[in-house]
Amino acid sequence: DTRHGPILYVEDVSVSFDGFKALNNLNLYIDDGELRCIIGPNGAGKTTMMDVITGKTRPDTGSVYFGQRIDLLKLSEHQIARGGIGRKFQKPTIFEALSVYENLELATAADKRVWYTLTRQLNGEQRDRINEVLIQIGLVDKRHSNAGELSHGQKQWLEIGMLLMQNPRVLLVDEPVAGMTGEEVEHTANLLTSLAGKHSVIVVEHDMAFVRSIARKVTVLHQGSVLAEGTMDQVQNDPRVIEVYLGE
Ligand code: ADP
Repeated sequence: DTRHGPILYVEDVSVSFDGFKALNNLNLYIDDGELRCIIGPNGAGKTTMMDVITGKTRPDTGSVYFGQRIDLLKLSEHQIARGGIGRKFQKPTIFEALSVYENLELATAADKRVWYTLTRQLNGEQRDRINEVLIQIGLVDKRHSNAGELSHGQKQWLEIGMLLMQNPRVLLVDEPVAGMTGEEVEHTANLLTSLAGKHSVIVVEHDMAFVRSIARKVTVLHQGSVLAEGTMDQVQNDPRVIEVYLGE
């Protein structure tokens, strides 16, 4: 759905590590509300791309704009996270000794140290939001369980829920289905597709069957730039893509 136009503009971005170009004139435009999958062989620059978007790595050249032309290169990693770009790493950073509900409460706090006072001051709107997110991530029945008791998949969904508490415009998700059971993979596919529309979702993933099941548009990175872009069928039939994957 391209009605809304881009929300994220990565333009001519290059990043070098000791002379090695991890990103080489990368151009990437993510539309508002779209679900985009980013694939590519190891070392293609996928992690570096996410690091640049989230402010963890500064590009040598190029620009990154968000929304109504907000210059992300002028913002800190923290400002970017608070300003509408959430990132889910592979390893969840949930608080295992707290309940699912408490984890979501905590996620509303800008400063985790004020959680104790904050949870006593949550307003009706914030409580409604927690309940809405519990439904979205499918953990209503688990809301009073300790996060540490959740399955691997449930922990991943809780972490996505914690990011949702910040109402991100863009959600970056790194290998969401690694280590999941078939049923968990299916749940994750439904979750991520249901988030699109309201949020832009960027998924970096190696599992091609999963990518095929969720993606409307796929970007293939190779040697730090975009090799191909289109539907899964289009990119999988692209001779340059076939060559790169066969050469892996
Ligand atoms: P991907 O996530 O697609 O596997 P990366 O973005 O992690 O690719 O890495 C791209 C290239 O940049 C790799 O060859 C990697 O070794 C190199 N690289 C990434 N981060 C660093 C770093 N901090 N220092 C040196 N080289 C790095």
